[in-house]
Amino acid sequence: MSKRILVLGGGPSGLVAARTLSSLGAQVQLLEKGEELGGHLLDICELFPTRQTAVEVLATQLLRVAEDPNIMVRTQADIENLEGEQGCFRATLTNGEVEEVDSIILATGFDVYDPLLMPEYSALQTDRVMSGLEFEKRLAKGDNPLEPFGKLCSVSIILCAGSRDESHNPHCCQVGCRVGLHQADMIQRYSSDDTQVYLCYVDVRAHGKGGEAFYRETREKGLHILKGRPSEITFDPLDSTLKYVIHDQITRKLLEIESDIVILQTASIPTKGTGKLATMMGIELDSEGFFLSPNHFEQSRSTRPGIYLAGGCAGPTSLPEAMNLGARAALEAFEGL
Ligand SMILES: Cc1cc2nc3c(=O)[nH]c(=O)nc-3n(C[C@H](O)[C@H](O)[C@H](O)COP(=O)(O)OP(=O)(O)OC[C@H]3O[C@@H](n4cnc5c(N)ncnc54)[C@H](O)[C@@H]3O)c2cc1C
Ligand code: SF4
Repeated sequence: MSKRILVLGGGPSGLVAARTLSSLGAQVQLLEKGEELGGHLLDICELFPTRQTAVEVLATQLLRVAEDPNIMVRTQADIENLEGEQGCFRATLTNGEVEEVDSIILATGFDVYDPLLMPEYSALQTDRVMSGLEFEKRLAKGDNPLEPFGKLCSVSIILCAGSRDESHNPHCCQVGCRVGLHQADMIQRYSSDDTQVYLCYVDVRAHGKGGEAFYRETREKGLHILKGRPSEITFDPLDSTLKYVIHDQITRKLLEIESDIVILQTASIPTKGTGKLATMMGIELDSEGFFLSPNHFEQSRSTRPGIYLAGGCAGPTSLPEAMNLGARAALEAFEGL
């Protein structure tokens, strides 16, 4: 009899996990709580460092899952209760159905930190300050993605907003630098030549394949890179301008910057419901609230046999890492039975 595995979460890591399991001969139940499969790829316009559209990358994955007879997809579906153990789990779904499965892969992803939780931004009564994810969501999918923003004379991108900061989230969000550089690159490509783009950083961590080359290339296109944390941002509703002061540690100059929009690369945080799910699954969380993988070199394992972890639910990841972790979790879940 084929092995039966439930994958919870239909983002990129869950899609890869489902396809890998099917190729091994398992029967897969893929549950997604949203209306559509795709996770954060549904909200992102273009991807670093290749500049491929997220739609294009996602379409290939979706087609393979849709054509796969071993994968049963349910959207607007979640788990309500779990009983049993590895080899004979009984999962009660939100629609009341009960699925008997051998193993479970959690691929529930991450959320982004709300900039309004930070005192320096919380008083700003304007939608001109936004997270990097919100910026991506607002980009049009048309010929010029910047169209919804009208004419932009100046844009500021602030890295490490609420990340690497003990009073918010101590960890590094892993992708914010590359997302910020890529958004700067998009703004420069799609706006008029005189648009000034400022990138305020603490450290630039453009790691990963192609990351360093992408950093150098973007930098050379006239981006203003300022090292330091900006002061509190103020908003003048009369001319719709945002202002902040920054001490640039490279030039040692105190600069006052005015921008039409400010994009904050905010921290990646555990997705809503992670704590509840951990209790239901009987697994532990790490100090930052992501699912805990107790062995650094076996990151797909949770603290309970039969429950595996894929992608951003175990900590912030880039897309290739999330997809690789999906495949890894599938192999571990299949072999672990
Ligand atoms: C602004 C921004 C831009 C980015 N750009 C890039 C880029 O250009 N290149 C790159 O490499 N990476 C990029 N990333 C990172 C990339 O988005 C992640 O690596 C990737 O989305 C992780 O995939 P995932 O499947 O683990 O999680 P997610 O994409 O978060 O998907 C998780 C899925 O699980 C579902 N889910 C959650 N809880 C449940 C539940 N209880 N039951 C059922 N379903 C559930 C969610 O609805 C969602 O569909 C970016 C991230 C951000 C924030
Ligand atoms: S990836 Fe970059 S923006 Fe994100 S926390 Fe790390 S250093 Fe800061």
